Amino acid sequence: MLRRSLDKEQCVRPLIGIPCYAAERSDSRRPLYGNNQAYIHAVERAGGVPVLLPPLSAATDSEQVADHLCARLDGLLLSGGADIAPALYGATATAECGTPEVERDVFETLLTQRALAARLPILAICRGMQMLNVVLGGTLLQDIASQRAEAQQHEYTTQPRSFRAHPITLAPDSRLASILGAPTVMVNSFHHQALDRVAPEIEVVGWAADGIAEACELRGYPFALGVQYHPEELVSTDEPSQRLFAAFIQVCSAR
Ligand code: MN
Repeated sequence: MLRRSLDKEQCVRPLIGIPCYAAERSDSRRPLYGNNQAYIHAVERAGGVPVLLPPLSAATDSEQVADHLCARLDGLLLSGGADIAPALYGATATAECGTPEVERDVFETLLTQRALAARLPILAICRGMQMLNVVLGGTLLQDIASQRAEAQQHEYTTQPRSFRAHPITLAPDSRLASILGAPTVMVNSFHHQALDRVAPEIEVVGWAADGIAEACELRGYPFALGVQYHPEELVSTDEPSQRLFAAFIQVCSAR
């Protein structure tokens, strides 16, 4: 039933900002901003209202715009996507690094900084976990396979998005372990980059068998969790992924 009233007490679903990436229509090739429906559906299913955010960083008042957004939003979901420009963590791109989306990098960096300042709850997925680390001063492996010879496969691009690629082990005392309700979970894996040097405020709380960081939490912060896998692609069947989105939306609702 649609509620006609805009009475604040009836509108309890939290607003979850989701930064967009650039794409184009397949028919007309007209440029678009958007994001994968899986994120939107997972947020909506868990009780949140997804709010898609196009890159807004060209204006001189972009910092105030980001603050204004953070004041209105109840949570921020940093999604997967293209490789982050290595210049943002003080590195030069290697041959294996993908082409960065500079416009998105600039806006997400700004928005993440302002969201952290506003102590907004953050769920950071795949590239999002990497963005959180970079914003806080960490660095990335630009290509796991070429930089960590001993690492297992993490890029299962030809598999369905719900394909369970490998297990991850969680730190028993972590918030994530208590949310997911299990010491190990089987996850999907669509990444060729990963955290390298971990930012001082970040604690890695989940690992693949090869030691690659698969989950992290922000110390001394209300709620900022990062996962290298894609729970949004698993929520229809996977209870831990459902619990992760439910926990995020619950924290956002309580603000
Ligand atoms: Mn992986």
